[in-house]
Amino acid sequence: MKIHEYQGKEILKKFGVTVPRGIPCFSVDDAVKAAETLGGKVWVVKAQIHAGGRGKGGGVKVAKSMDEVKTYAGQILGMQLKTHQTGPQGQKVNRLLVEEGADIKKEYYVAALTDRATQKVAMMASSEGGMDIEEVAHKTPEKIIKVFVDPAAGLTDAQANELANGIGVPAGSLAQAVDTLKKLYTCYMETDASLAEINPLILEGNGNIKALDAKFNFDSNALYRHPEIVAYRDLDEEDADEIEASKFDLAYISLDGNIGCLVNGAGLAMATMDTIKLFGAEPANFLDVGGGATTEKVTEAFKIMLKNPKVKGILVNIFGGIMKCDTIANGVVTAARETHLSVPLVVRMKGTNEDLGKKILAESGLPIITADSMAEAATKIVAAVK
Ligand code: GDP
Ligand code: MN
Repeated sequence: MKIHEYQGKEILKKFGVTVPRGIPCFSVDDAVKAAETLGGKVWVVKAQIHAGGRGKGGGVKVAKSMDEVKTYAGQILGMQLKTHQTGPQGQKVNRLLVEEGADIKKEYYVAALTDRATQKVAMMASSEGGMDIEEVAHKTPEKIIKVFVDPAAGLTDAQANELANGIGVPAGSLAQAVDTLKKLYTCYMETDASLAEINPLILEGNGNIKALDAKFNFDSNALYRHPEIVAYRDLDEEDADEIEASKFDLAYISLDGNIGCLVNGAGLAMATMDTIKLFGAEPANFLDVGGGATTEKVTEAFKIMLKNPKVKGILVNIFGGIMKCDTIANGVVTAARETHLSVPLVVRMKGTNEDLGKKILAESGLPIITADSMAEAATKIVAAVK
């Protein structure tokens, strides 16, 4: 689960990391009031969306007067902000963060993340802060320093020093940088984050270290023990179809292709998507109906897939283990009727009550194409959408 920058900064602050003073806002009036409350002469007006690269896309503006605060807030609120992380359609801005301006002397990058290869937490740092870290990793990988943390020992002083020294934090600010890194690690661990990134972490003119941005990702399997993080969820930032699917306990991820897939079991769903690709087409979604798919669940799954105008055909691939093929066949027939299905439908089912399932499909009078093997199913659906 992702959260907004201002929420991330609230969390960082709780763990003792220094962040600028700021106020989240939902209107231009709010933004002006926030700037007045903060005082000072320079403010930063920042779009709050669940994507990075906002600066480059025009979603972060430095205002030097109340008039500018008003102008920028008006420009950014409601805009369709496009960044390299939003996709070409962009993301609508519904919230702003107004902050006191910072005196930036140097921008660094620091992050804690799960490293699957070493099965440890990696702490990463770079002197090239403020930029797209993927670009730094690609062009100048030597400018990224990593340490891997032993979970029993935690981030040691030696490791934190290695990072802070490695990115060139000046001597006078070293202790603060080390302290910030250790707090970031603690914060990452205690919130069950899978990513906690500060980009940029800045060195201010007065030598202080401050977090100017905050990006978090949380492990959804651990959210049950963090109600305070669940409360940060902003459904406006999430895919509407994925939210709808989660209500019916369907694991659904929308993709870019034109073949809708309805499968039981995540492994079979992955294999089905691979097979579609192997036969020259692209899946429109990942959809795992799980072990106990009822007629209602299958119908909802069809409705969600068909909402996507790109879907030109549907492939149902079911292994009847605990779930019986006749149950799924009834679900498919009901769903096809209820949704007035007008795109080609290929069904492959194997396992318990397979013959009964096939009979139900055949006797439905619906133009359902059946298949026995994965290859046959993929060949038929790919031909049908072309
Ligand atoms: P992102 O582009 O989505 O990662 O948004 P950031 O919060 O990282 O902001 C982008 C850039 O805006 C930063 O790297 C800074 O260079 C700049 N910026 C952010 N806050 C301030 C500020 O208080 N003063 C100044 N001068 N620049 C800022
Ligand atoms: Mn940033």
